[in-house]
Amino acid sequence: MAEKIIMLNDTRTGSLPVPAVLQAPTGRVDDALARPLHDLRISVTDRCNFRCVYCMPKEVFDKDYPYLPHASLLSFEEITRVARLFVEHGVEKLRLTGGEPLLRKDIERLVGMLRDLRTPSGRPLDLTLTTNGSLLARKARALKDAGLDRVTVSLDALDDATFRRMNDVDFAVTDVLDGIEAAHAAGLGPIKVNMVVKRGMNDAEILPMARHFKATPFILRFIEFMDVGASNGWNMDDVVPSREIASRIGAEMPLEPVEPNYHGETATRWRYLDGSGEIGLISSVTQAFCRDCTRIRLSTEGQLYTCLFATRGHDLRALLRDGRSDLEISSAIAQLWRARADRYSETRTIHTAALRGGAQKVEMSYIGG
Ligand code: SF4
Repeated sequence: MAEKIIMLNDTRTGSLPVPAVLQAPTGRVDDALARPLHDLRISVTDRCNFRCVYCMPKEVFDKDYPYLPHASLLSFEEITRVARLFVEHGVEKLRLTGGEPLLRKDIERLVGMLRDLRTPSGRPLDLTLTTNGSLLARKARALKDAGLDRVTVSLDALDDATFRRMNDVDFAVTDVLDGIEAAHAAGLGPIKVNMVVKRGMNDAEILPMARHFKATPFILRFIEFMDVGASNGWNMDDVVPSREIASRIGAEMPLEPVEPNYHGETATRWRYLDGSGEIGLISSVTQAFCRDCTRIRLSTEGQLYTCLFATRGHDLRALLRDGRSDLEISSAIAQLWRARADRYSETRTIHTAALRGGAQKVEMSYIGG
């Protein structure tokens, strides 16, 4: 386990400078590698009720962990204002994350506020949420009524003992499955089920998960175990490459590749030859997809991260609380995105060596996955 942890009020946060020349948004802004700004992931809480060993291990996130005080969190009004400014730059997809986003009190109210936003051409946004599913059975209907389009549920095993061991809080798998069904019944689909695969921990669950979700309305996606944050003790040996996952499943249930739904889709799609649905493979380690990465992340306390593997955030909250105008904040966002050249996963080996030298990546529970 890592010896150091990242303090959430750490000093590695940089300011977000407002440019001298302000510019109204044009509906599109490209980064230094010609990638448009398209997706905004909003972390609404740094807390979670699970202690997944690869994300919020108990040894680090214990009862003494310094979670953010409520006053540090962006309010729903602040989040909505930021989202509106991003939409004016071309963002069409909003994803609420955490921590566990359903732990944020009155999250439905935020969903309703974001639902009212429109793209410059007047279209509603794609509004989605990633959850561990633990509170979904209770909340699915209210989320749908508030205007949420769909959910992605994280589920790393079907075997109850394995699942309990992985979430490390003794949460039963049937409760998550009930949550998925409730979300489906409420119309929060298509529902994606994300399984992070770590060799030796849950790779024996690949086939049971594939069998379980085959011929259902749910799209199962396998994610290579990643070196996000500094707490999960990542090692390349822990990664089960996507091609191995595809061949393990394909040996029993033959598969063929499918064209992506849209340019820049993170998962490669495979469908069962017998026509009983499809799976997705997210090869974040073995086949990096940085060249199509159009995502920016807003942390719970209003720091912007231009990459999941960032070692430094940019303090948007300071601008919000300093009384800056929409035009000033919007110009600062555009300037940040234009300078972005992140492609961590494509250069992982170099970065891993540099990180050994001292720099620390931010935790996934802080900025959302
Ligand atoms: S490593 Fe960074 S730039 Fe590459 S895909 Fe992930 S978030 Fe995007």
